[in-house]
Amino acid sequence: MAERIKETNFNSDLFSSIIPCSSNSPPWTLPLPDFDTTLKIYQKMQTNYREIYNRYQVIIESHPNFKLIFTDASKSSHGVGYAAVSDNQRISSSLPQHCSVYTGELTAIKEALNLARTATDANFLVVTDSLSALEGIKQLYPRNCILRGIKDMLRLLYNDKKRIKFLWVPSHTGIPGNEEADKEASRAAVPSSRSVIRTPYQDLKGLIKVHITSLWQQKWNGSHSKLLAIAPDVNTRFTLPSGRRNQIIMSRLRIGHTLVTHKHIFEGTDAPVCSTCNQRLTVVHILMECPTYQNARSLNHLSNDISEVTLSGRSECNTGIPGSRNTGISHAMCRINPVRKMSTGLAGLKRSEIHVLRSARLRVRAD
Ligand SMILES: [Zn+2]
Repeated sequence: MAERIKETNFNSDLFSSIIPCSSNSPPWTLPLPDFDTTLKIYQKMQTNYREIYNRYQVIIESHPNFKLIFTDASKSSHGVGYAAVSDNQRISSSLPQHCSVYTGELTAIKEALNLARTATDANFLVVTDSLSALEGIKQLYPRNCILRGIKDMLRLLYNDKKRIKFLWVPSHTGIPGNEEADKEASRAAVPSSRSVIRTPYQDLKGLIKVHITSLWQQKWNGSHSKLLAIAPDVNTRFTLPSGRRNQIIMSRLRIGHTLVTHKHIFEGTDAPVCSTCNQRLTVVHILMECPTYQNARSLNHLSNDISEVTLSGRSECNTGIPGSRNTGISHAMCRINPVRKMSTGLAGLKRSEIHVLRSARLRVRAD
């Protein structure tokens, strides 16, 4: 897969920055650290910050011999900053802009464990506001390479007879250490000065998706598909109105092939011409150009953009629904005569035409 992506001129230097995923510790031999997530019961929006702080103080006071290390991460348009802050030390740095906040939170926790390794204390309370990071550490077989590094680090600390406990606190609730780590991380969320920063492969997924989509868009821009006019953006999501009948009309309008405009193919006759303008009768002509339907178009507030008109098909042709707007393509379907005819299916054809149509369908199936 990586080789195929490299063939598309993707910045392959980024592949060499992926953290190699190996672990020295068999996971089943690793003692799981303690986690305290009791503050989860306080819904941030409904609880007074003072109440959260008081409860936090109770937890801290029940850990008198623990050294506190606060961690946090912050993402800006320039980069991802992370920080680990204790009473006498603070570490902060930045990761490339394509990294996730989750990567920042995990890196901050890894730095906190580094601090714990070099400190003389024996017990540490790592305080984070990232519940997902703690959930990650609880995994037995994490895929994320930073998580594996954290597991290795926990083993080393365990061998050094150091005790690690994790505490979750809600963010931005005035807990001083958390606020300080948050400020440090925000300050560090600037373009990194380091030349090579190792990141987990998961963080490249977003970049690869953007790159592949832009290649797809370039290819689409150069295509001759009729759909290009109605969906110039490859990320367009097609929605359909409710009701089978409306869905048929909308799909036919989008591809530009309707009974009114393409019946001649089955009949073996000339293409239809607008009786007013003496121009080839097409969906675009009916919905955008023909003066005959100008009133119907303005009554239904149809846009001048065919893409906007055919992609916005939602409500049915039902003016009785309270709040529904009596406008748009769905309503125009019922007001513009040729568009209405597009939904008539076989009913608008003569017996001989139905025969031609059916035999053509059978031929297609037989092929
Ligand atoms: Zn016309």
